[in-house]
Amino acid sequence: MKIEFKKIPQSGIDFEVKQDNIKFCGNAKRVDKNLVKCNGNMSGSFNHICDRCGVDFEKVVNQSFEIYASNGIYNEDNYDNLIEYFDAYVNFDTMLKSELESLKCEYLYCKNCSRENNNNILGE
Ligand SMILES: [Zn+2]
Repeated sequence: MKIEFKKIPQSGIDFEVKQDNIKFCGNAKRVDKNLVKCNGNMSGSFNHICDRCGVDFEKVVNQSFEIYASNGIYNEDNYDNLIEYFDAYVNFDTMLKSELESLKCEYLYCKNCSRENNNNILGE
């Protein structure tokens, strides 16, 4: 899903994209001539290999995001989470992809390992 920068209003426009089992939806608002702010929620699950024991497991995702999109190069360093687009469109599919990639870069543990990390709550 792509929306042209100039068609994104200050009052905001809803978007929703999916990739495999991940749903990425929210609202995009123009905050400046060439800057759009996207707020929303990413939910669903993806398969991942546990960074501790190496087992393949399903990671459940449910988290909010705030991402800025700029039309072309953005020179100021005001935002941590900013994606530059160079074809005059905001592309929500690549936005989802980059958000998912940054999530996969974190250490992710399967249920067993995250349970151990929680000081043996179950008393095992
Ligand atoms: Zn594990």
